[in-house]
Amino acid sequence: MAVRPVGEGRYVVESQSGAEYLVDLPNSDCSCPDHEIRGEHCKHIRRVAIEVTERRVPAPGMTAADCAICGHESFVPESGPAVCADCWLERGDLATDRETGDTVVVYRLTDERADERYIDAADTTVADYPKNDGYPRADPVVEVVYPFSGDAEADLDERPRYAFPYSRLAPRDQMIVE
Ligand SMILES: [Zn+2]
Ligand SMILES: [Zn+2]
Repeated sequence: MAVRPVGEGRYVVESQSGAEYLVDLPNSDCSCPDHEIRGEHCKHIRRVAIEVTERRVPAPGMTAADCAICGHESFVPESGPAVCADCWLERGDLATDRETGDTVVVYRLTDERADERYIDAADTTVADYPKNDGYPRADPVVEVVYPFSGDAEADLDERPRYAFPYSRLAPRDQMIVE
């Protein structure tokens, strides 16, 4: 049986007979007669679940695309930055600013490009900000905070956030515990 993702957790399954059925995986629903009449977990739902587990098709909420950072074809979020699991940045991840050597903490990986995100205070985009010269203009913007300056008690939400092009950051294998 061939499985083809069509987005939003739905997959078209082509059976050996050539018939096509639509499986809605999050809702455990299938358009085949078996499922409609008996309400059973039919073989199409099982097939889709296996394909997802074996990573041959994207899980619900994910889609196949080239990662914006490493360029490898990967499963990336359907809505959100086109960044693969290896390149993904989580809130709390530590990174080094390649320009200054400062340690920063990731607040949020955004789905905005560096040449689209405007910095009001500097009256320019992240891509055109002088220190960001040379980094890819299409880079996703990462919002970071400086956890080791200012009020030591302030949590991440209370700290000023700064927008960086992803490639200006060297991610480290560490994160802060909030
Ligand atoms: Zn079915
Ligand atoms: Zn990647």
